[in-house]
Amino acid sequence: MVYEVHILHTGYSRTVEGGTEANCTCSIIKGKYNLIVDTMTPWDQEIILKGLKDVGLSCEDIDYVISTHGHSDHTGNNNLFLKATHIVGFCISYKNHYYDEPFSKNEPFILDEELKVIPTPGHTLSDVSVIVNTLKGTIAVTGDLFEREEDLIDDNIWRNAGSESPDNQIKHRNMILTLADYIVPGHGPMFSVPK
Ligand SMILES: [Zn+2]
Repeated sequence: MVYEVHILHTGYSRTVEGGTEANCTCSIIKGKYNLIVDTMTPWDQEIILKGLKDVGLSCEDIDYVISTHGHSDHTGNNNLFLKATHIVGFCISYKNHYYDEPFSKNEPFILDEELKVIPTPGHTLSDVSVIVNTLKGTIAVTGDLFEREEDLIDDNIWRNAGSESPDNQIKHRNMILTLADYIVPGHGPMFSVPK
């Protein structure tokens, strides 16, 4: 079964007086396994439920919830998905069971030949990205490893969004740019990787 990536919500971030306004890009990966990646803020339940319905899925159909990292705009609705295994950064759990995880050893969590979760620390020290092969090519759903397409030209954009390890972030950004045809960033629309 071929995987499809649907953008459920396109994220954004902008500076406002006294802080930042931001919400994440939320994606659905549909195929042999169904995934939701980055579940927005706790105030966005209706958006998530409608977005799932639009692609013919319900909360019970989701096999894996992935939060690319543990910030509140990427984890807000994880508790809608109680049949799913939850991967939040380097942490893999189902109910009260916490599985041994491969990420700390710099190894991938492989779901099948077309779909894996890989460690891509930088924005936080335990960020992960989802790599999926589709008919369009290889798509990397990276969370805030990439803030949005424009940060390819202006690296202040991702640095100012907070980076716990800029050196690691540069390394993993370059790795993703080498392996992916498209990137779904943390706070912007999907973009194609310039060749
Ligand atoms: Zn974010």
